[in-house]
Amino acid sequence: MILEITTFDHPALRARGARISEITDRIRSIAADMIETMRDADGLGLAAQQIGLPLQMFALDVSQMKNRPSAMWIDGRPTDFESLMPLVLMNSEVETFGDLLVEGEGCLSFPELSADIPRPFSVRVKALTLEGVILEFEADGLLARAIQHELDHTRGILFIDRAVEDDRNAFPPDIRRLMRSIS
Ligand code: ZN
Repeated sequence: MILEITTFDHPALRARGARISEITDRIRSIAADMIETMRDADGLGLAAQQIGLPLQMFALDVSQMKNRPSAMWIDGRPTDFESLMPLVLMNSEVETFGDLLVEGEGCLSFPELSADIPRPFSVRVKALTLEGVILEFEADGLLARAIQHELDHTRGILFIDRAVEDDRNAFPPDIRRLMRSIS
């Protein structure tokens, strides 16, 4: 089912997600709705907060973005990440590394808005999948950026909070009001 995406000042967007202790039918159903909603909106990712649920859960699909490459390694071996998409990750533990790269980002919860966001180029991830297994991998590029963006959502952090100063200053007043400092 395609769900309404929460936007701007919706309180769910500032809610920290709860851990998911078990893959139940409800979790599987939420995941299916998140994937459907993400695809309908042409998004690269969607977090549970964006459908109003405070959970540590997000969906990703970067397989269509040929002009912004991604890479993934499992056990140190290059992995065909496209075959894993759409991917739903829960309870993600993410370690970032590599150079800090400033690139443009958008967000389905902030239609029409884009901003330059500095983020490390690479991530090391340990997360629960819908199959109930722990998936460990490393990723680079757009996939690493999308994971960091979605992980932020599950902690109530938004991309506007991380925008470079020039972009923050250029945001319209109603967006500036929603920005929070990251401690
Ligand atoms: Zn977003």
